[in-house]
Amino acid sequence: MLHIGCHLSIAGGFLAMGKLASSIGADTFQCFLRNPRGASAKAPNREDISALNAYLKQNRFAPFIAHAPYTMNACSSSGRVRELAYEMFAGDLAVMEQLPGNYYNFHPGSHLGQGTKTAEILIADLLNRCLTPEQSTIVLLETMSGKGTEVGRSFEELARILERLELPDKAGVCIDTCHLSDAGYDVRHNLDGILREFDRVIGLSRLMAVHVNDSLNPPGSRKDRHARIGEGAIGLPALVNVLTHPALRGLPFILETPNDTAGHKQEIALLRQKSALSGKEDIP
Ligand code: FE
Ligand code: FE
Ligand code: ZN
Repeated sequence: MLHIGCHLSIAGGFLAMGKLASSIGADTFQCFLRNPRGASAKAPNREDISALNAYLKQNRFAPFIAHAPYTMNACSSSGRVRELAYEMFAGDLAVMEQLPGNYYNFHPGSHLGQGTKTAEILIADLLNRCLTPEQSTIVLLETMSGKGTEVGRSFEELARILERLELPDKAGVCIDTCHLSDAGYDVRHNLDGILREFDRVIGLSRLMAVHVNDSLNPPGSRKDRHARIGEGAIGLPALVNVLTHPALRGLPFILETPNDTAGHKQEIALLRQKSALSGKEDIP
């Protein structure tokens, strides 16, 4: 079963996202829990949340992903920014506990010149403050392109953060195909090799979700500019191989392509169709 969806706006509320996802052929989705550029969260409506809970169960959705705000930086050089990151993270996790069994994905952060070693410790510290044995939400560290001083460009960096966790079972990884390619992993030609390396460095059991994006730039560019499926350096056949790879079977696949709802609906239909037909694709 291919579980696929796209990033949706939470502006219309929680239940509305579930219904919108169904209407475009999705059985998972991703959203921010608050305005992605700002820190303020309007208090979520509990009835709306429980309506979404019931809807996702009735319609047999795969786990969905709440994405942390882009402004959150767990490894900032400013203690104030790190404290703000803690407040956002803890606040969002409290909301997610009303939606049991789903994922909270975040960008590890930017070290702003402190170096990755210091950043890895700060990120693990934030997680160790926030994660509890009782929680049902799994937090996901996203693989990053390495733009600027971003942490999480290599599997080794993510592995070192995970190794520091007191509750490692509460954390996993979300790979992003655009970010992997931009970070220098050749998604177009070497998916098998990338996944073998992931398994060796982190362990495939930690891989919980996939962001499916094409990239406007060539591998190793460290740019992080997403392209529509088939319109970038990775290309449609290689992305279909991601969706159909045995090591990734059953994971939620989320599109973060520059598209409106109609465009995402088309991409979901295309990817479902190509994945159903696919044996292994030949990559030019
Ligand atoms: Fe992201
Ligand atoms: Fe992503
Ligand atoms: Zn990105």
